[in-house]
Amino acid sequence: MAAVQNDFADKVAIITGAASGIGLATSKRLRSLGATVVMADVDEARGKTVAEEIGGEFVRLDVSDAGAWREVVDGICRRHGGLDIAFLNAGITTFSATGEQLIEGFEIGELPDDAYRRIMGVNVDGVVFGVRAVVPALETRGGGAIVATASAAGVIAFPPDPIYTMTKHAVVGFVRSLAPGLIAKHITLNAVLPGAVDTNILGAGFAEKAREMGIPMIDPAQIADGVVHAITEGTTGKLWLCLAGQDPAVYEFAPVEGLGIPTNVEG
Ligand code: NAD
Repeated sequence: MAAVQNDFADKVAIITGAASGIGLATSKRLRSLGATVVMADVDEARGKTVAEEIGGEFVRLDVSDAGAWREVVDGICRRHGGLDIAFLNAGITTFSATGEQLIEGFEIGELPDDAYRRIMGVNVDGVVFGVRAVVPALETRGGGAIVATASAAGVIAFPPDPIYTMTKHAVVGFVRSLAPGLIAKHITLNAVLPGAVDTNILGAGFAEKAREMGIPMIDPAQIADGVVHAITEGTTGKLWLCLAGQDPAVYEFAPVEGLGIPTNVEG
C-alpha cells in the first residue's frame, strides 16, 4: 500500500531543480493536486519568480551540499509540520557549466576536473544526500514517497555524454538497491527515466535540432504524470520509463543467472 495515494491535500513535498523544466512542471502538478510544495533550486531569481506564480515556497538549495540538505529538511519540518514526498530531480550535463550543447565526439582526454566534480556532485551526491536527509523526516510521518530523476540514459549507452550516462546509471543502481530496505519504514523509492524532454538542460536550439533528427521531444508535463504515477502506484524500487506519447512503463533488467543471489529485487 502506498503511503501517498491520490489525495495530496495534506501532503508536503520537496522538489529539487524546481525552477525549470521537469521540476517546475512537477511542482505545478503537485500544487494543482493540493500539496504544499517546497521548490528547491540554486537559481534563486528564477526559483522565487516561478514559486510565486504557482503558489509554491522557494528555498535555495545546492543539492551537492550535504549540510544544506539537513538545514532545508529541518526548516520544512518546522514550518510545515513534516515532509511526505521528495522528488530528487536536480541534474546537469557535463557541459552545463560551460553552456555548451551535447555534442557528438566526446573527448575523455579533455574532460575538465571541475566539470567532472560538478556533475558528480549534483547528479550523484545530490540524490544520495537528498535521500539520506529526507528518510528520517518521512519515517517520522509514518511513511512517504521518494522519486529520483534518472534518465533513459540510466539504462542505455549514450555516447554524447558518458559521464552523464554514468551518473544516471548510478541513480538507477542506488534506487533499486536501497528501496527494499525502506519498505519497513513505509517509504517507497522509485526513479523516473525520461527520454528527451524539451527543457533548458539540453542547451539553446537543441530541441529544434533533435526534432529535425527525428528524436521525439517530450513536454515536461508528461514527466510530471510519470512522477505522480511513481508516487501513488504503490510499488518500490521501480524504474519508470517515460517516453514520448507513451504511458509510464516499468523497465526491467534481464536476470543474471549463476550469482547465487536474486538480481532483480522485488518491492
Ligand atoms: P532544467 O535545466 O530545465 O532544470 C534543472 C534545474 O536544476 C534548473 O533549474 C537548475 O538551476 C537546477 N539545478 C542545477 N544544479 C543544481 C544544484 N546543484 N542544486 C539544485 N538545483 C540545481 O533541466 P531538466 O531537463 O528539467 O532536468 C531535470 C532532471 O531531468 C535532471 O536530473 C536531468 O538529468 C533529467 N533528465 C532530463 C532529460 C531531458 O531531456 N531534459 C532527460 C532525462 C533526464
